[in-house]
Amino acid sequence: MRQQLPKEIDPLRFAHSGLTLAGEIPVSEMPRLCEVLHDSSGVVIVNMQFDIDSTGTPYLNGQFAVTVNLLCERCMEPMAHSIKLSTMLAIIRHEGKIEGLAEQYEPWLLSDTKLVDPAEVVEDELILALPLVPKHDYPCLPDALWQAGEQEIEAEKPASPFAVLSALKSKK
Ligand SMILES: [Zn+2]
Repeated sequence: MRQQLPKEIDPLRFAHSGLTLAGEIPVSEMPRLCEVLHDSSGVVIVNMQFDIDSTGTPYLNGQFAVTVNLLCERCMEPMAHSIKLSTMLAIIRHEGKIEGLAEQYEPWLLSDTKLVDPAEVVEDELILALPLVPKHDYPCLPDALWQAGEQEIEAEKPASPFAVLSALKSKK
């Protein structure tokens, strides 16, 4: 059986108590993520360790793993894409604290409400980890078609600096 994550936690209290959360979240429960996927299949395996570092910064060390279906922008067919990410998020209440953060952290800025849904931060991190232009990692279109596409892109390139220079010279 799937282990459900709680819907509401107080991340700061979790950090101060050094708590760990582990469970699974179906992709279908993450509407913002689903918007950029081909479909809503998949289950995210979530591990979250909350703690306070030696400088007193409360943080979340999160590991999230999932295989989602994206749409390949080359052949417009679905493609399975595995994400396995590990993230260090400093838990902060005020934007002013973002600047002083140690390098290994990304800020997790909490809103005014004390309790948050841990699935929200998992969803944010997964969206950031998606490729900008998803493509199969093999030539998924027949060569002829694909090469025709390349040539079109080639033709749209701006003129070379030399061509621009000689154009300028000839204007004199
Ligand atoms: Zn493809």
